[in-house]
Amino acid sequence: MSRPPLAAILTLGCKLNLADSGEVARGLRAAGFQVVGHLCEADAYVINTCSVTHVADQKSRRLVRSARKMSPAAPVAVTGCYPQSAGAEAATALGADLVTGLTEGDRARLVGFLAERARVTAASSPVPGTPLPLHTRSFIRAQAGCNDVCSFCIVPRTRGRERSRDIDDIVAEVSLVADGGAREAVITGTQLGAWGRDLDPPLAPQHLIAAILERTDIARLRFSSLQPQDITPGLLALWRDPRLMPHFHLALQSGSAPVLQRMRRRYSPRDFLLAAARIQAAVPDAAITTDVIAGFPGETEEDFADTLALCSDVGFARMHCFPYSPRSRTAAALMPVQLPAAERQERVRRLIALGEELSLAFRRRFAGTVRPVLWEDERSSPEGRWWHGHTDNYIPVFAPGQGLGNRVTPALLGAVYHDGVLATLTGGEE
Ligand code: SF4
Repeated sequence: MSRPPLAAILTLGCKLNLADSGEVARGLRAAGFQVVGHLCEADAYVINTCSVTHVADQKSRRLVRSARKMSPAAPVAVTGCYPQSAGAEAATALGADLVTGLTEGDRARLVGFLAERARVTAASSPVPGTPLPLHTRSFIRAQAGCNDVCSFCIVPRTRGRERSRDIDDIVAEVSLVADGGAREAVITGTQLGAWGRDLDPPLAPQHLIAAILERTDIARLRFSSLQPQDITPGLLALWRDPRLMPHFHLALQSGSAPVLQRMRRRYSPRDFLLAAARIQAAVPDAAITTDVIAGFPGETEEDFADTLALCSDVGFARMHCFPYSPRSRTAAALMPVQLPAAERQERVRRLIALGEELSLAFRRRFAGTVRPVLWEDERSSPEGRWWHGHTDNYIPVFAPGQGLGNRVTPALLGAVYHDGVLATLTGGEE
């Protein structure tokens, strides 16, 4: 065979899936594959699916079919949440050659299976090798599983009980990606705030963050998501280190006390506001981003108004808004007052509109200031070609320039542009 086989890993859903895909990519590279993260003609496909809503299910199905159609002879492996919620047979019926989980053993089996099958495809087809993309940002899974029982969520069934990865393992992986050229590591987990409590002796997330900062050279570290009860003064004190990015993702889900109770979330609206205020006092330029569900069973117009008011009070930098979507085998799906789809849609539209307004206000707040930007890729638009990246506080930035890929430079932020802001380089490198 004259060229290495090409594997396309297509990832839907959360940062956890991105971290899992990163591990699969490392395994495939070690087995001699070139790996890309987008749909193209390839010798093998991995579809890492999501099942958080019906729309996610649909996208998962569509990706499997598209891969199958694009390179009919190439093996397609399906993993992630879709086969776990819809059943392995459903994924096989779409054309998957292998349906698997993502334990270490599953990953080894997946890599072995694709390596075996793709050798045949690559030897007999002229699919051109695509250059490896730059790895500016690496997602590293520190924790898996969840012991909570949120009434709308299928994850505890699909991902199992909480399991923390050993601190030395995580530190070693961060060092590895830093040595490989990544400038930023994003630490992910289903329930990241629970990291360490199942270890012996038990540890807390601040031990993990401190160890990564002390023992690795990674230029930027991002901690992907936490819950309000995780935001303690001890944890926030770590953000004095400029290598720790001022970005907190706290999933709100609802701003109404009775809805949060029915969701079985472990905080009240007041707890959430206190956590946000603590963050804003300790890390004033921090972006706080969130997820919100509109139209949960029994949500009244008054409950929904509480959610809108809380979102405005916090001033989120970005909101991911979803209409409530009943998942089978969850308690919420059996709750008596299910809102009509049209009402859920109407509320989610109002949430999205508020999210856009708040995001605009957040981005405008930093116009005229200089912030460090990690430059990720070059993009075309009707106005020309731009370098695209993210500030430390996760504002998307577009700037003219050359050869910026995978560099961190200061940039003067200007007017809002698309979902981010325009910027000019001020010279120097971090
Ligand atoms: S905390 Fe709740 S929403 Fe998040 S994974 Fe666990 S059960 Fe699901």
